[in-house]
Amino acid sequence: MPKVTIASYSNEAEAELAAGRLACDDIKAEVHRFSRYRAMGAGGYQLRVEGADLAAARRILAGIDGEIDMDEYVDADDASYRRCPKCNSVNVTAGPRPLAMVLASVLLLGLPLLFVPRNWSCRKCGQAWRA
Ligand SMILES: [Zn+2]
Repeated sequence: MPKVTIASYSNEAEAELAAGRLACDDIKAEVHRFSRYRAMGAGGYQLRVEGADLAAARRILAGIDGEIDMDEYVDADDASYRRCPKCNSVNVTAGPRPLAMVLASVLLLGLPLLFVPRNWSCRKCGQAWRA
């Protein structure tokens, strides 16, 4: 049975937490890490499950979205996480990077440009910003 990607995360801890939650329901999930360049951007860690488990896994993940408080797992002085400029929470979500700009940077520079600004939003206080 081929594995399918069900979700992607910007940091490993969050991906592992989601995998752990699925394991509670006997769904085997694995975290796949992309190359360093992609892992540095949001979506660098992909959560994969067996195709047969996809529907059930989706339901579970939909239920825990916003339930996991990453602030409880990340040290307040850990600078490796993107934080909300308003409340300093690490529970932030990135909007998609414009694909055309990423492709252009790959063609021009040979690597994905991860400095393309994107929209961020805070799941705790609702703050939205561009970075
Ligand atoms: Zn916030």
